[in-house]
Amino acid sequence: MRIEKPRGTRDFLPDEMEKRRNIEGIMRRIVESFGYREVSTPTFEHLELFTIKSGDEIIEEIYAFKDKSGRDLALRPELTAPVMRLFVNECFVMPKPLRFYYFANCFRYERPQKGRYREFWQFGVELIGSDTPESDAEVIILAYRIMEELSIDFSLHIGHVGLLRKVLHGVDEKERAMRFIDKKEWRELENFLERKGKGELFEKIMELSSSRSIEEAISVYPDFDYSHISKVLGILDSLGIDFKLDFGIARGLDYYTGMVFEIYGRGLGAQNQICGGGSYSLTGIFGKEDVPATGFAIGFDRVAEICNVDQEKTRKVVVIGFGDYSKATKVADVLRREGIPSVVDVMGRSVKKQLSFANSINADYAVFVGEEFKKGLVTVKNLNTGNQREIRFEELSSYIINGEI
Ligand code: ATP
Ligand code: MG
Repeated sequence: MRIEKPRGTRDFLPDEMEKRRNIEGIMRRIVESFGYREVSTPTFEHLELFTIKSGDEIIEEIYAFKDKSGRDLALRPELTAPVMRLFVNECFVMPKPLRFYYFANCFRYERPQKGRYREFWQFGVELIGSDTPESDAEVIILAYRIMEELSIDFSLHIGHVGLLRKVLHGVDEKERAMRFIDKKEWRELENFLERKGKGELFEKIMELSSSRSIEEAISVYPDFDYSHISKVLGILDSLGIDFKLDFGIARGLDYYTGMVFEIYGRGLGAQNQICGGGSYSLTGIFGKEDVPATGFAIGFDRVAEICNVDQEKTRKVVVIGFGDYSKATKVADVLRREGIPSVVDVMGRSVKKQLSFANSINADYAVFVGEEFKKGLVTVKNLNTGNQREIRFEELSSYIINGEI
């Protein structure tokens, strides 16, 4: 009986895992260079962690279940709420700001399509305890540098949900309006605002979302303090960060408070959002005073789809013992300890078959361990060039590491 994997999930073969680990490594290196440190939270949480403030879209998508004791649990659909739970429970009094990052799988009951899965990975950061323009700018710069380093063709859009909320002030169910804006469902937004007797706001929102400068936004809607977002943009300008002002960004999650940003990648089709973030406050849901934070989540799978990182290849060796398994393993053992991946035949195959197997796994060298081994000699064959020579066993690993022969 063939058992399929669940809908919306994926298997990853070694080539793909190698690529993903490589990308992950680059992301880790960059966030760590900014002083962020990794945290990890449970795969499942109490359902209410996500229902309190995660927004309707995500709640509908939650994989929720009861455990055997009847507790309401959920597979995490995202990591900001779990990381803030961790912060409130374990790190509330630590010196601020805290700089955390995570890389983990998330689960959403969505309609699977290209770039949209039921299990997917997010790589994200949270900068906790500061609400200055400098901290907002830092988080944006970090996301930007990651995309740059991965040679992704992307565009960065920055907005402010505080402004949208101010414009929508007094509209009841305004989070629904925010959702329409997030999804760029302009007709639905217009109808919604008409129904609420606030049809005039539609024009304002359209004009704001097409404003390409703070000055333009001020002329459309003067009744807002633009100084924070101006300062953020000023910092980015000073670093040569390329962005588009976009007051049409609403974000799907309800907890954002101020600056918000999204990054879109080219080459992905409809699901082109590869990163979303902004400033928010979530500590209130845990009954604590407000602690401001800024963060982002990168859609790791979408990034992996469009980025081609140079794979650093470690040279791989096949050790052939002419039927003497223990001699071959002894040699492989030494090479492995030097950090050289080495494979020994475990199926009692002929030399010819071992060589063709070496080919099939893209090995770079074959090391023949024969009679001469008694005199401390082995024969190395470069499988890419065909060159072959006898060398002293002690020299073997340095030959391979240097790519000689
Ligand atoms: P979308 O509008 O594409 O549904 P979202 O607003 O729900 O995205 P966030 O909750 O902000 O996404 O999550 C951050 C990132 O995670 C997104 O920018 C996207 O790249 C990625 N992401 C979200 N949902 C999925 C999914 N089902 N499969 C793969 N990646 C996803
Ligand atoms: Mg979504």
